[in-house]
Amino acid sequence: MFEKQIEIPSAEEIIAERTVPRQLAEIKRARDRLAIDVITGKSDKLLVIVGPCSAHEPAPVLEYVRRLATLSEKVEDRLVLIPRIYTAKPRTRGVGYKGMFSQPDPEHKEDTLRGIRTIRALLLSAIEESGLSAADEMLYPENYAYVEDLVTYVAIGARSSENQMHRLVSSGVELPVGFKNPMSGSIPVLINSIYAAQSPQVFKYHNWQVKTGGNPYAHAVLRGRVDNYGNDIPNYHYETVMQVMDSYAQAGTLQNPAVIIDANHSNSAKHFKQQIRIVNEVLQNRRQDGDFHRIVKGFMIESFLKEGCQEHDVEFGKSITDPCLGWEDTERLILDIAEKA
Ligand code: PEP
Ligand code: MN
Repeated sequence: MFEKQIEIPSAEEIIAERTVPRQLAEIKRARDRLAIDVITGKSDKLLVIVGPCSAHEPAPVLEYVRRLATLSEKVEDRLVLIPRIYTAKPRTRGVGYKGMFSQPDPEHKEDTLRGIRTIRALLLSAIEESGLSAADEMLYPENYAYVEDLVTYVAIGARSSENQMHRLVSSGVELPVGFKNPMSGSIPVLINSIYAAQSPQVFKYHNWQVKTGGNPYAHAVLRGRVDNYGNDIPNYHYETVMQVMDSYAQAGTLQNPAVIIDANHSNSAKHFKQQIRIVNEVLQNRRQDGDFHRIVKGFMIESFLKEGCQEHDVEFGKSITDPCLGWEDTERLILDIAEKA
C-alpha cells in the first residue's frame, strides 16, 4: 500500500516560489562552463569535487563553502573547486539517514516538501555567499528537476550507475555527469552507462514523453570496488586507470574520455586520511605518464570542517555519514594539488 502523505508541487512550481536572481544564475552558468571545459580538455585545469559525504545541516555547509571560496581564489588558475553539497544519500541496506532532500532535520522523520525548500535555499546561499555552485548526487532521477538551475556537477552513485532511469535522465543533463563505477567494479557496466548517457534518448519524465540530445560530458568516476566477500579493492592505480582508458578506446564512439578519482569510499576503504596519499599517488602517475595525465581530469574528496564522522549531529561541521578529512588537511591537500597539477 501507498498512503498519500503530502502532495509535492512540481519542480516548476517550486522554482517559481523563489527564482534564482539573474546575477547568481550567471555565476552558475560561468561555473558550468569552467567544469565542462575541464571535461572536454579545452581547459587543462583539474576538477576537484570536495566536501562532506552528506550535507546534513545548512550552517556548517555554508561555513565550509565560504572557506573553500577563499581557497579557490588561491588555486583558480589550476583547479576548478566544486563543493559537494549532497542532499540525497543512498544507503547500502536501504535504511538510515536519507539526506536533507527527504529529511531536512536528520534527527526527525521525512518531510520532503520542507526538504526541497531547504536544499534549494542552501544551494542558492552557497552561490550567493561563496560564488561556488555545487555538486550533488542524482540519487532519485526525477528529483534532478528541483535542483537543475543550481548545480554545476552531477554524480551518479555506485549503486545507481547501472540503472536505466539514471542513464536516461543523465542524457538530458547539460552538465558534467560523473558515473561511479558500480560496486562490483565492472568497467564494461561503467562504459555502458556513459554510452547510454551520451546517446540521445526518448522516455517518460515528469508526465511527459521527452527527447534528450545525449550528454557528451558524461564520464567515469573510479571509487574502488567491493569484492564478493565485502573487501574494498582500490581502482585508482595506474594499471586500473589504463584499463578504463583502453575500454573507452574500444567503445569507439564515446566523447571526452575522462576519469575522476574518488579518493574515499572503496579506494581508501573509508580510511579517510588515506585520501591524501591516494591523491598524491595519482598526481605522481600524472607526472609520469602522458596518457594517464590526459585521462585523469580530477578528484573527488570527502572533507568537512572537522575530520572523521559521528553517529548523531552533535559536533558542528562533522560528517554524519562517511568519515571526512578535516579542514586543515583539506586546505593543505588542495594547495598541494594546485602545485603539482
Ligand atoms: C558518495 O559519494 O558519498 C557515495 C555515496 O558514493 P558511492 O556511490 O561511490 O558509494
Ligand atoms: Mn560518501
